[in-house]
Amino acid sequence: MRHDEHHRIHRSGWLRAAVLGANDGIVSTASLITGVAAAEASRGSILLAGTAGLAAGAMSMAAGEYVSVKSQEDTEGADLKMEAEALENDREEEERELAAVYRDRGLDETLAAEVARQMMQHDALAAHARDEIGITAELSARPLQAAFWSAATFTVGAAVPVVTASLAPVSSLLWAVPVLAIAMLGTLGALAAVAGGAAPLRGALRVCFWGSLAMALTAGVGRLFGIAL
Ligand SMILES: [Zn+2]
Repeated sequence: MRHDEHHRIHRSGWLRAAVLGANDGIVSTASLITGVAAAEASRGSILLAGTAGLAAGAMSMAAGEYVSVKSQEDTEGADLKMEAEALENDREEEERELAAVYRDRGLDETLAAEVARQMMQHDALAAHARDEIGITAELSARPLQAAFWSAATFTVGAAVPVVTASLAPVSSLLWAVPVLAIAMLGTLGALAAVAGGAAPLRGALRVCFWGSLAMALTAGVGRLFGIAL
């Protein structure tokens, strides 16, 4: 019989990461540009700050993601090595352990023992990794991939205020950049909410609130600097 449900968990994981990366790019770069524009800097200085912010932000996202996913990969590797040794040293005990996992999931004693026996026969390490530790090939850590996507989504988000700052009249930047940034944040917030099965409006309002707050703060700082300089 065809399996018809489309579980959101499979897609919302990477979409959520992509939207978070883009949001970061929009909020941090739009805030930076708004702050420099509030200090009445020239378009050249505004674009310099925006582009440097984009590059610095993308690299720090990539570095942060790589380091965190790499350490997850290291942990997974250490767990798998420990499991392989346990299978080497005490296979019977490991089979009992696996049967206990299946009993906890609702199988009766006999069936749990039989399932464990067959799973161990088929691929013991994979069965323990998946059912005892929770490591599957689909979810296993991919540091470089994660770093790349994190930097890429940040860059896409950050490009919005940078392009706005290069095209809009300098006199309008103090409102044009925030307005466009908030429109993008709202769209992404609603998209991520829908993908996760939540109410789009609440998702949009939440990210717009924090984005607006960040841009208002940096505009204030920029204004203060503009007066002081
Ligand atoms: Zn085990």
